[in-house]
Amino acid sequence: MEWLRRFMTGRYGSDQLSLALLILSFLLMFIARIARFPILVFISYIPLIICVFRMLSRNISKRSAENYRFMLTANSFYSWIRQKREHIKNSKTRRYFKCPNCAASLWVPKGKGKITITCPKCKTQFKRRT
Ligand SMILES: [Zn+2]
Repeated sequence: MEWLRRFMTGRYGSDQLSLALLILSFLLMFIARIARFPILVFISYIPLIICVFRMLSRNISKRSAENYRFMLTANSFYSWIRQKREHIKNSKTRRYFKCPNCAASLWVPKGKGKITITCPKCKTQFKRRT
């Protein structure tokens, strides 16, 4: 394994983006097999090739920046999923609204009839049925 360590010296190696590309590639291969869609097999090699290119790349700062941007996107996606799950969990007791002025997400207790809602961020008032 000494040759591999010598080969990988100065190269970027793996990170979260490479792992995501690998998973995407296997997912596409799986779908191609299920759907019997041979073109998709070739398409599934694209993320795999990008993954290998990134792992063997010597431009570490550029690869780190790519991974950083990927992680920012992934985190905002995860927080969006978390928020939607929270909304579904509390949908029996709360109504969620978006402020018409600043688009902030806010909630009020359900079943109170038509009420005036004040946005806690921008203090805009709007009427909604709960
Ligand atoms: Zn607002």
